[in-house]
Amino acid sequence: MASLQDFFDEKCRLPSPPAIALKILEAVQQQENSFDELARIISADPALSARILKITNSSLYGLLQPVNSLSQATALIGTDALKNIALSFAIVQDFQDVPHGSFDLNLFWRRAITAAVAAEVLGERISYKDQDIFVSALLQDIGVLILFLSDPSGYATVLDDKRVSGKSVSATEKNQFGHDHAEIGCLFLKSWNLPDSICQPIRFHHVGAPDAKYRQAAMVLGFADKISAMYHGVRSNSKSTDVHSGLAESWQLTDVQIDSLIDTVGERAREILDLFAIDPGEIKPFSQIMQEANDELGRLNFSYEQIVLELKQAKQSAEKLATELKQANDSLRELALHDGLTGLYNHRYFQEVLEVELERSGRYKHPLALLILDIDFFKKVNDNYGHLAGDHVLQEVSRVLVSLVRQCDFVARYGGEEFAVVLPETGAHGAKLLAQRLRRGIEQKQIEYNGQFISVTMSIGIAASDLGKSVMSRTALIECSDQALYRAKQNGRNRVELGTA
Ligand code: GH3
Ligand code: MG
Ligand code: MG
Repeated sequence: MASLQDFFDEKCRLPSPPAIALKILEAVQQQENSFDELARIISADPALSARILKITNSSLYGLLQPVNSLSQATALIGTDALKNIALSFAIVQDFQDVPHGSFDLNLFWRRAITAAVAAEVLGERISYKDQDIFVSALLQDIGVLILFLSDPSGYATVLDDKRVSGKSVSATEKNQFGHDHAEIGCLFLKSWNLPDSICQPIRFHHVGAPDAKYRQAAMVLGFADKISAMYHGVRSNSKSTDVHSGLAESWQLTDVQIDSLIDTVGERAREILDLFAIDPGEIKPFSQIMQEANDELGRLNFSYEQIVLELKQAKQSAEKLATELKQANDSLRELALHDGLTGLYNHRYFQEVLEVELERSGRYKHPLALLILDIDFFKKVNDNYGHLAGDHVLQEVSRVLVSLVRQCDFVARYGGEEFAVVLPETGAHGAKLLAQRLRRGIEQKQIEYNGQFISVTMSIGIAASDLGKSVMSRTALIECSDQALYRAKQNGRNRVELGTA
């Protein structure tokens, strides 16, 4: 990478100093009669003279009596201050005419002049006496302009990189060019023969000067830059935090003092920008900037809360939907599994359950029994009492069956007036006992329908897994209990018969 000097000599496109600025500098550098010479040069430019008188009378210097002549001005603010004002005007004016492409020259000078005012105000607050501070602050970022003019597209990359990465301008400049604007600006102003009291603080305004002589000035420039950025840049909030903590730490200024300082900078900058014929843009009192920043923050917070609320509501309605969906699914499933008339499990589900239970009993070598129950002469119930009475009997029989079985037993309507009961963990003996209990329960039940009492009996066939030597399949178990039922019917009904495998 090229050394700073080589880079500067080879790559930087440098505007030549404005003639009047050169003359002013020369006049001041010749120590003798410097005021007379300075006054002569300034007076030759009536517009410049008028501006210098205006700025001398401005709030920046806070003079008690109005100043009408350059000699009066010099007497009150000193030759150096006068020189620096003249120099500042000459440079800003001259740079207005530099071909600058897409570079926002107005914003650049707006920021520079506000920084110059900020440096002056801060210097005054911390009792730091430096006649050059205004012009140093004004020119501290001149390196940005030099780098931009020398390589516009390279500098556009710097700005993009800064926007995207959030890194400092200096860091992105070093990345792109190997050197930053503070280094370049210092060299540039040296090439104009500006004194070290101006060039050195500029060189170190971002990093702190190693030489104690320039340290304070470099710090003032750094803070002035940040205060200016609060008025003309983005992220005023974080700049404000930096400025407050930095000024409190470096000069023990209180928050109230800092706020008033920042407000003063805003007020004075508006006036001074006007004198420099630079559009002040929107300089608001800092308190208003903070208020707006807080309002914006409030809006952001509000919209954040709003989003959270909406998400919460969306989540709740999604949960509600999910619950409703689950309920709908549950009831669909219930519908699919149950028999509409009796509410018992239906034939299809009975087949599934029997399969599962058979598999389980096989795996654990636990017994399993199946009852098939059929109402005796049910046709006659329909014939004698009507079909609706028959339906009612089916419902009541179902209730009796369910009430008499264990929790783990599974009662289904097999079809018509036939029922099935799956009895897990039950062998032939237990199944027989339960079947008799069911038979008796039905036999004893007086079913009331429209003021009449109907009683029915049931025949029950039993199949049990422990009846045969080998494990029975589902169809074998059903066939076995069917045959037993058939025998129960054959043997006189209202009976229980045990199947044989
Ligand atoms: P068995 O003792 O031999 O079983 O004689 P049963 O009359 O009970 O047998 P059958 O198979 O001859 O008649 C069964 C009757 O059950 C015929 C049918 O109308 C009636 N049935 C079947 N399902 C229903 C129903 O859902 N409601 C009503 N009311 N009757 C039904
Ligand atoms: Mg029957
Ligand atoms: Mg039948």
